[in-house]
Amino acid sequence: MTGGPDGTGGTGSDGTGGAAGASGTAGDVVVRVDRARCVGTGLCAATAPDDLALGEDGRARARHPVSAPGEQLTEAAEMCPVEAITVRSALDGRVIAPAL
Ligand code: SF4
Repeated sequence: MTGGPDGTGGTGSDGTGGAAGASGTAGDVVVRVDRARCVGTGLCAATAPDDLALGEDGRARARHPVSAPGEQLTEAAEMCPVEAITVRSALDGRVIAPAL
């Protein structure tokens, strides 16, 4: 009568990969600038330079069709004095910033 093997497992879980290779992260956002409304302060481009830039006409534009969400982006949308920036969920179109 040998005592049964007590299956102590779980020591060797090397956490490789967790992120399934989905194309496009679920949290991606779409940034839109209402260029007719923009007055070219440059605040947004200074706040979120990876995602927003001033165009040759001095008005802001989104640098990418889809961006990763981030505080800078949210902040840029919040601080625009004319509320020309909208950040939406790429998944369902929900407005993330500015807060209503
Ligand atoms: S903060 Fe607003 S007004 Fe200023 S450049 Fe950006 S979009 Fe235009």
